[in-house]
Amino acid sequence: MKKSEKLEKLKQTCLNCQACVLGTTRNNIVFSDGNPDTAKAILIGEAPGANEDMTGTPFVGRAGKLLNEFLEKAGISRKEDLYIINTVKCRPPENRVPTNEEKAECVKYLNEQINIVNPKLLIFCGSTALQSFYDKKVPISKIRGTWLDVTVEGNTYKAMPIFHPSYLLRNHSLEPGKPRALMMEDLEKISELIHR
Ligand code: SF4
Repeated sequence: MKKSEKLEKLKQTCLNCQACVLGTTRNNIVFSDGNPDTAKAILIGEAPGANEDMTGTPFVGRAGKLLNEFLEKAGISRKEDLYIINTVKCRPPENRVPTNEEKAECVKYLNEQINIVNPKLLIFCGSTALQSFYDKKVPISKIRGTWLDVTVEGNTYKAMPIFHPSYLLRNHSLEPGKPRALMMEDLEKISELIHR
């Protein structure tokens, strides 16, 4: 069975999920984007926002558009090189950060998606995604751009934390050493590994 077929079965389970309170207020499950059969990396974001909740697709608002621009500049195809998911599949009201209880309920789906796709690497986009897989408390600004080894239910993956694009929306400078320049450096390293 192709990875996409296995994931479609899992998606059907998620469509009926009410395991945490977020299931009561969502409009749509935000399951994934990208092509699991060709993806070399899984990019993990925080949680769906209003645009994602309405469309059922991750990273489609302003932050998503900015992410697309960075990916394109780094030579990473969002549709072919990446499979994109979030730490929770339903939108937290008022765009709050998902709680530990909500993440703990949803992580079974996340882990299954990761192990079905079995990518070369994981990309933790922002601190919420990082903290779901890395138990040391380190600010994203200190750990971004470094390679980590992360184990997901017995399988070990190379992983890199990067800034979340919503942080870059508030930081416009392109000067060396500033967040946008560092994001570009990180994505270039990721692109190099994807295409190796
Ligand atoms: S966030 Fe995850 S665990 Fe909670 S209802 Fe949605 S799919 Fe289920």
